Amino acid sequence: MNDDAGPGPGTDGGWEVVVIGAGPAGYAAAIRAAQLGMRTACIDKSLDREGNPTLGGTCLNWGCIPSKALLDVSHKYAEAAGHFGELGIGVGDLSIDVPGMMARKDAVVTRLTGGVGALFQGNGVTALAGSGRLLGNRRVEFTPHDGEATVLEAEHVILAPGSVPIDIDQAPLVPGTVVDSTGALEFDAVPGRLGVIGAGAIGLELGSVWSRLGSEAVILEALDEFLPMADQRIARDALRAFKRQGLDIRLGCRVMRAEPSGDGVTVTYQDASDEHVVEFDRLIVAVGRRPYTEGLLAPDSGVNLDERGFLYVNDLCATDAPEVYAVGDVVRGPMLAHKGAEEGVMVAERIAGHKPLVNYDCVPNVIYTHPEIAWVGRTEQSLKADGENYRTGTFSFGANGRALAANDAEGIVKIVADAETDRVLGVHVFGPQASELIAQAVIAMEFDASAEDLGLTMFAHPTLAEAVHEAALGVGGRAIHMVNRKRA
Ligand code: FAD
Ligand code: NAD
Repeated sequence: MNDDAGPGPGTDGGWEVVVIGAGPAGYAAAIRAAQLGMRTACIDKSLDREGNPTLGGTCLNWGCIPSKALLDVSHKYAEAAGHFGELGIGVGDLSIDVPGMMARKDAVVTRLTGGVGALFQGNGVTALAGSGRLLGNRRVEFTPHDGEATVLEAEHVILAPGSVPIDIDQAPLVPGTVVDSTGALEFDAVPGRLGVIGAGAIGLELGSVWSRLGSEAVILEALDEFLPMADQRIARDALRAFKRQGLDIRLGCRVMRAEPSGDGVTVTYQDASDEHVVEFDRLIVAVGRRPYTEGLLAPDSGVNLDERGFLYVNDLCATDAPEVYAVGDVVRGPMLAHKGAEEGVMVAERIAGHKPLVNYDCVPNVIYTHPEIAWVGRTEQSLKADGENYRTGTFSFGANGRALAANDAEGIVKIVADAETDRVLGVHVFGPQASELIAQAVIAMEFDASAEDLGLTMFAHPTLAEAVHEAALGVGGRAIHMVNRKRA
């Protein structure tokens, strides 16, 4: 990272754009602003395990990428342990080298964080390693990790400080034993008994990693409903599948306390029937994340928070302070890397005078379990609650040739379309490579496709995507590879 503060105030007029935070929202904003010809600096305070500045924020260092590296390894391991025999492949004694797995994950992270540095250099973004704090009148105080604070004058400021895990008093963190998602990406051995608090994206993904490698995993979820934001048919199917895989998911659990005991932890929780006590070797607390604004704003910054502690912005990510914008996890909307990156690019382009918008109705969501869960747009239950008229089409991967050939045929595709216009309102996939398949649905919805449009499109055979095609045909009762429901 370049810690040259560049042309500061009093030299040649300061910066056109200063970005605080180099996660996916901030680095995308900085790169796009520089591409558009603006003199841009991006401040980030993250340090890696060795104490060196690192770019890429939560996503690259402690989030999306390291978790997917572990998910992919553990999936391969579980396939070899559980399913290779069905394919006629013998593997003998299997073992997992946890330090080796972690070293590979770290190498992937280093490659990608270094890539952001290279992109900054190639596009002319000046990276500043240290903390940023917004003062009044678009001035930013920059404090390098090992130096004196200076003040940068900016024409435009983009705040992208991200989010941090939520702590709960009932389960205080104990290094190595009671951990948040960052600690759960660093275990040095497979825990024998693993507890997870929270059955959201992190609980399911990291619970899956360690359970596939041999942990007895229990997930304690406060809500009575599993994945309430997903399609409820899919949530039901997924819950059944995950339980079959060995994830012991318990709903309606109120965790009362988690206390260290020996090398592990004792958790007491209450459900509808009783109070329970469970012993774990390791406990992951995954109950959500909160916007990270500590130390970010001087009292006269002019930027306000909303009632939930997010930086308050309008639809165009403008804060209450002139020419100060905020993007990513620190503002309303889903905490997803791609949502923040789209906001960052939009803001940079608007500063340059272009007029793009972020389509918040088309944000894809993915949970990287196996099978994966992915969706975009409206759920059937939300349309029903709003009294809307809709039709659905579903298709099972059990009738898809490619999925069967790959021995990976659990799950369905479900498409929800407007009953009058046939416009696609939502697409829900539980199945192999759902994360890749959902991109087709996002494109269709971006272009306001009808289910018939998708049905009239030719899909290669044999592919998993044919399940999307058939589900779209099914909306109009025209599926070929399943018997269509009779419509009244
Ligand atoms: P961040 O990535 O959090 O980056 C903010 C950066 O700003 C950080 O480097 C921080 O140090 C820096 N910063 C903060 N304040 C200051 C300051 N005052 N001065 C200087 N620097 C500052 N999302 C997905 O879309 N897909 C996934 O598969 C996925 N998996 C995840 C897995 C895990 C385990 C976790 C924890 C998260 C995952 N997420 C995933 C969420 C994703 O990581 C976030 O949505 C995304 O990183 C948010 O991007 P951001 O740029 O807003 O903030
Ligand atoms: P989450 O909001 O997805 O899930 C948290 C879960 O914990 C919820 O089901 C909630 O009901 C439950 N919970 C809250 N308090 C509890 C308590 N005291 N006891 C028991 N259960 C409790 O949050 P997360 O899984 O921590 O993830 C944080 C953020 O990171 C999310 O916004 C998510 O979008 C993002 N993320 C995304 C991905 C992905 O896109 N694949 C992966 C990981 C994280």
